[in-house]
Amino acid sequence: MHELRIATDLAEIVERYASEAGWQVVEKVNLTFGQFIQVVPDLFEAAFREATRGTVAAGAEIDIEIIPAEMRCLGCGAPYIPAGDLHACKSCGSEEIDLIHGKELYIKSIEGG
Ligand SMILES: [Zn+2]
Repeated sequence: MHELRIATDLAEIVERYASEAGWQVVEKVNLTFGQFIQVVPDLFEAAFREATRGTVAAGAEIDIEIIPAEMRCLGCGAPYIPAGDLHACKSCGSEEIDLIHGKELYIKSIEGG
């Protein structure tokens, strides 16, 4: 379950941020994940709860934004949305592709005080 590893890493970042800011409580954590990170929000939230148990972030609300995958073909330059596991260009069939969106994994903002 890779949600657990991601949640543990992000919980550490959130706790460090809150500690450096001198916060008593973290109220909300806004997260951005690309589609290719394949995070299941419910599993992530459960893992985050586990990782932050007993910390200032234990009761934080979790908001997850999923960015849809988007590719650009290096052959013809066309941007497109990949379908399933077929990543070749829909216009020319080239497999020389660049990922524009889909691998995002970051904390957009943290709210607390
Ligand atoms: Zn193409």
